[in-house]
Amino acid sequence: MERENSMSQDYRSMWETLGLDLEAHDALLGVLGDFYRDIYLSQKNRPEGMGYFDFVMSEVHGLRIRELLDEKAAGRKIIGSYCVFVPEEIVLAGNATLVGLCAGADFAMEEVEKILPRNTCALIKSTFGFKLGRVCPYLEAADMVVGENTCDGKKKAYESLGPLVSNLYIMDIPQVKSEKGKELLRTEYFHFKDAVEALTGVTIDAERLREGIHTVNAKRRALHRLAGLRAADPAPISGLDALLANQVSFYDNPTRFTDAVNKICDELEKRIAARQGVFSEKTPRVVISGCPMAVPSWKIPSIVETSGAVIVGEESCVGERGVRNLTDGSAQTLEALMDAIVDRYFKVDCAIFTPNPDRLAHIEEMVRTYKADGVIHYGLMFCQPYLMEAIPVERALEKKNIPCLRIDTDYGMEDVGQLKTRIEAFVELIK
Ligand code: SF4
Ligand code: SF4
Repeated sequence: MERENSMSQDYRSMWETLGLDLEAHDALLGVLGDFYRDIYLSQKNRPEGMGYFDFVMSEVHGLRIRELLDEKAAGRKIIGSYCVFVPEEIVLAGNATLVGLCAGADFAMEEVEKILPRNTCALIKSTFGFKLGRVCPYLEAADMVVGENTCDGKKKAYESLGPLVSNLYIMDIPQVKSEKGKELLRTEYFHFKDAVEALTGVTIDAERLREGIHTVNAKRRALHRLAGLRAADPAPISGLDALLANQVSFYDNPTRFTDAVNKICDELEKRIAARQGVFSEKTPRVVISGCPMAVPSWKIPSIVETSGAVIVGEESCVGERGVRNLTDGSAQTLEALMDAIVDRYFKVDCAIFTPNPDRLAHIEEMVRTYKADGVIHYGLMFCQPYLMEAIPVERALEKKNIPCLRIDTDYGMEDVGQLKTRIEAFVELIK
């Protein structure tokens, strides 16, 4: 107990040094802790390996931040990002650590709406809320923050974020999958490499880059393994827990994370062999598709999995869209390895691209692979790219007799009752 007290004292001074608003931060951690307990710890039949992720979550603003600050003290840099287009391979090769900064909860909304229009998506508003409310230690610990020109909302919001953070680096992202688009991405990734080198003082050579590629691919392979095991019926892990693993991948040390995911996969393989699941066999199976779900955006998965269905895959940047492709690390030269990185990221089928047929093909492929009975399309209100795509996606799926439920929501809890009714009706339909 005494040790615990001195540890929390130690964290408080760490948060204070980072400039956090301690009172507001206490309130956030309180809400997050309650939410986690109600949603995650109340689940039945969880794999034992989830203990690791429970621990990471309980220390997400504590031990992990201490580790990052220790890394900084040893000369490493921390780079924050809001998008899976920021290549972690380059960051690692430059002796820096990448952390995801997207946030999944409303905070300091009154302050946010002085800077952003009300009809901005919840993800962008949350980003600003965490900054203006001074409650995100990752953002405050970052030596560089990367803003990418993806959707209109983000690219314009970064203009307003610039004065609020030190060292905001803007990366342009193509909107069309053409040769010209690819060339733009290539130019941007070379600029980014230069910026990382300037930040860290480390020259990125082929060997360093190959090592970065190897580390990130190992993380992706572990997540592929986890995803593949979810094809089993009964499902060996809940969608909530699998989502948590994907969410933690944005914060955790990549190598330790990879080991933890592989360990849980060993356990899931045994469960599958014993026909042991989190839900009974023949439970209706759902793929979630759409906007990314950052911590603690667990509203929809929690409703789905308490309404008689199990989520067997996420077509999302916090999910398969973010990790499904590997980077070819076999080339010998720095140029060729950089090209392999460009090739890999250019395949990301984000809805900011026009047209974006690969995403629909991927949703259909996921339905087949994970033997899903239906798709729930998750769109954040005011997110034009995903909401616009939702209608043709729904039509195309229905033409193939794949039921689809389109949900437009935000981070608030006001619509939970209404969503529960709609989701329960959908689950009845796909049974
Ligand atoms: S949805 Fe698009 S903009 Fe958002 S994280 Fe994914 S790739 Fe980036
Ligand atoms: S959810 Fe949509 S609008 Fe919001 S940041 Fe992502 S792509 Fe942009």
